[in-house]
Formats: sequence, C-alpha cells, structure tokens
Amino acid sequence: MITVHADDHKLHCGLLDPRGDQWGPSAECPERANNVLQAIREQNFGTLMEPKHFEESKYTRIHAPDYVRFLQDVWPAWQQSDEKGANARPDTFVGAGMRRADTECIAGKLGRYSFDSTSPFVEGSWQAIRTSANIALTGADLLRSGALHAFALCRPPGHHATVDYCGGYCYLNNTALATQSLLDGGAKKIAVLDVDYHHGNGTQTIFYERNDVLTISLHADPSLEYPFFLGYADEPGEAAGHGFNINYPLPFGTHWEQYAVALADAISEVRRFEPDALVVPLGLDTFAGDPTTNFGIETEDFTRMGREIASLGLQTLVVLEGGYSVEHIGNNTVSFLAGLEEQ
Ligand SMILES: [Zn+2]
Repeated sequence: MITVHADDHKLHCGLLDPRGDQWGPSAECPERANNVLQAIREQNFGTLMEPKHFEESKYTRIHAPDYVRFLQDVWPAWQQSDEKGANARPDTFVGAGMRRADTECIAGKLGRYSFDSTSPFVEGSWQAIRTSANIALTGADLLRSGALHAFALCRPPGHHATVDYCGGYCYLNNTALATQSLLDGGAKKIAVLDVDYHHGNGTQTIFYERNDVLTISLHADPSLEYPFFLGYADEPGEAAGHGFNINYPLPFGTHWEQYAVALADAISEVRRFEPDALVVPLGLDTFAGDPTTNFGIETEDFTRMGREIASLGLQTLVVLEGGYSVEHIGNNTVSFLAGLEEQ
C-alpha cells in the first residue's frame, strides 16, 4: 500500500482549545500525524510518497469559491485587523433571525464561515489545509491509476467541513474532494464509509441530494456527542439522494462486538450499492484509550475492521480523520491498514 504524506501539516501548530477558564493545546496537534508516519516507517508498512500539486479549481468542485478564498485570506486579514491574537477564531455566529452574512470584517467572516469555534487559524494553516487536501486528491489519483488500496495521511482532518463552513478541526473536506475526483475521473458511483467516532456531518451534507455517492457513517449517538445537530438514523437523503445516506448512531461504551454488527450491516449496504470504489474516512477516536471519546474499540479490533472492509474487494482509499490518543494513533492506524491488506 502507498501512503501519501507531507510535512506541511506541522505548520498548522500552536492551536488552542478552551480548557475550563484557560486555553490549552488543541487535541488536534501535529504529533498525531507524526506518530502515524513514524509507526508506518517503523513497521515498514508499504511505500511513502509526497502529494502532487492541484489547482484551486479542484477544491471548488466541492467547496464554494468565496469559502476557499476566506480560508486563504483569513490569517493575513486577521493580522491586519484589531483582532490580533495567537489563533484567529470566531466568537459570533449567524444565528436564527440574523439577516446579513456578507460582512467585510474578519471577525464577522470567521463567524460566517464557521459552525463552531474548534477550528482556529494560525500563520501556516492555509498551507497545511491545502496540502492535506492535495494528499487526499493524490490518493484518489492512485486509485484512478489502478491501485487497490491507498492511504492519505491527512492533517488537518476534513469530514466535518461542509461546502462553506469549517468546524470540528476541519477546513476542506478531504474525503469529499477525493470522492468527487474519482467521479470526475470516470467512476459512476462511489461509497463513503465513515468509521470516525464522530458523525461525518460535512460529507453527509455535501452529498445529501446526490445518488452517485452513498454516504454511510458509524458514530457516537449525536444526541449525546458532537456534532449534536446531525447524524441521526432518520436522515435518508433528499431529492435524488433519498435512500443514499445511512447513519448508525451507537451508544457510549460501544465495543467491538456491538460495532461489528453495525459494520456488517453497513458493508452489506455498500455491496448492494455496487460502487466503483470506496472511500473510508478513518478516525482512530473510536479507540478505548482515546482521552476525548467514549467507545471501547481496541487496537486489535482495528485489524478486524480493516479486514471486514477489505472483504468488499473494492478499490479503497483510506483518509485519516480523527484520533486523539497521540501515543496510540500510529499503532491503531497500522493495525487497520494491516487488516485491509490481508485480503
Ligand atoms: Zn472524530
């Protein structure tokens, strides 16, 4: 298997999360991707390559042009404003009953293009965001050239990002960009099987009215867990997309035996759809030892998960999403990829 990776993600550093009445280092930190790359190197897992360059027209196949411009311009605009600080971050959002969303003020723009406050910007963010998208697009190109499996070691992650909103540590939706690229390359149907602990709200929203992409997500019940406002079982898709979105909300404490039942059902739905290829947004935050979440998946279970998914026999692009146990994310990722490669 080929892993696509780059060092640019390290520029997206110094990110802060609220910790009670203090600010602390964000759980979405460069050490995550460093650890995954180190585990792949140490275990001699396949070959490594750098991403190709892509024009912004690739990003606007999914994202609104004004949103991509915002991502590019936010840091310099923040620096030139009175709002200077270590992280550019929104604090005012477009709530119900508010009318205008076209402010020129950078604090207003941050609120306009964010659905939460977890996705700050620092000086190197755009370079990291762009390279992360290019990693996923390069992974899609590998499949387009005939590779059976490829791994896009993306950071920052992408599955919470919508057409024109960032949130949940996500800015460009790497999974959606790769999926669209596969379709643009001639595929007729692509399935997305999201196994991150959190619902892939961005990916669902992007493809919600389409029948050429089946979106499936297994995740913690959103009535209890982020992103709270989407990811329920009664979201089948709309218009032409009706019947092409499936959610499996799972309770806190879900361990492999329960998870495997939902996964088997999801896999049978993928098989029924008969896609040309599969994209798997891989979150390692279902791990029992993840400090931020509430599932009980163990390291060896990720091998089972990869093996089950590989049983579909589809060309598969794995895209790194969440996972916040810095110590274990590398081993857990390789455990999954090893299961995938067993087939
Ligand atoms: Zn997650």
